[in-house]
Amino acid sequence: MAIAALAALALGGCTRTAADRGADSAGDAGRGAAAKASASASASPRAKPAFDKKARSTTDPASLWVIVNKKHPLKPVDYAPADLVYPDLPNPNRQPLRKPAAEALAGMAAAASAAGLSLSIESGYRSYPTQLAVYNEWVSSKGEAVADELSARPGTSEHQTGLAVDLSAVPANCSLAVCFATTPQGKWLAANAWRYGFLLRYPADKVNVTGYQYEPWHFRFIGVPLATELHAKHVETLEEFFGVSGGTSY
Ligand SMILES: [Zn+2]
Repeated sequence: MAIAALAALALGGCTRTAADRGADSAGDAGRGAAAKASASASASPRAKPAFDKKARSTTDPASLWVIVNKKHPLKPVDYAPADLVYPDLPNPNRQPLRKPAAEALAGMAAAASAAGLSLSIESGYRSYPTQLAVYNEWVSSKGEAVADELSARPGTSEHQTGLAVDLSAVPANCSLAVCFATTPQGKWLAANAWRYGFLLRYPADKVNVTGYQYEPWHFRFIGVPLATELHAKHVETLEEFFGVSGGTSY
């Protein structure tokens, strides 16, 4: 495996796990009230909840809302998407994504381009066997503790969903580094990704929630409705929005 590819694979946040129980007991006061309202009397149409947190599964690996973190591995652990395609933008490492993510990414890249900013794909879908090989390589060379810091355990990488992408600037500038956040591309993505259904999945101030260090280059496709809702409510993570556990320990 090329060294650059291995380095990309090794980065912490670029490996992770999926959610299992879609706990949505938290933050559902509005839903409860709405249910009560519709149960009593003749259900006023005005009482409908603004956003349905149950519209999609957070545990089905094929769901656009699946939550993968160290507490919630993908189930099945060797899940592989069925609709991988190559997005229409510079992709030097030939990284596929699931079709809905690929199409949205092409739209986002076109908008960035219109703003004078070029993007390329550093990494996209990563298979279970690849993650397994990378993780085992780190374990055998550095031991499990260091491996866990540098790489996600197999089945716990969000990249395995085919919905996560690591983006770089063209020409390359701070690729897969925290300083990507200070580049024009990094700033544009942080401000606009939600419009195209993408979430900056590992914010600087949410390491204890997501379990991963700040990764201003890692974006997760969740669809425009959910991304818009998170943006409007100023909620930064899927774990907080859906009331699902996360954190840095397995
Ligand atoms: Zn990543």
